[in-house]
Amino acid sequence: MDYYLKRTENPLILKDLKRQGLEVNKGKEITCRCEKTFPIQDMYRCLYCGVYFCLECAEKHFGQSREDYDNPPAHVESNPILAHPLPSPVQT
Ligand SMILES: [Zn+2]
Ligand SMILES: [Zn+2]
Repeated sequence: MDYYLKRTENPLILKDLKRQGLEVNKGKEITCRCEKTFPIQDMYRCLYCGVYFCLECAEKHFGQSREDYDNPPAHVESNPILAHPLPSPVQT
């Protein structure tokens, strides 16, 4: 968590990082910014700010819903860096 703590002065982010840091150490549940609590494995951590979000908040925070992701605009789909290809169906 230190990396993220050092790079922001945003009180909202600092509050989340500190609270969630303690929760991660306990290893059970994490409280999202929306104040709901979920098991760690159901939370999504932001690469940039280090805060964990529940699915609903992660879709907003990351700027795209899972539905948007499944239907990417053409410029995303055709770019090998931007695209997140869905796994190919298993060949039988
Ligand atoms: Zn973030
Ligand atoms: Zn949430």
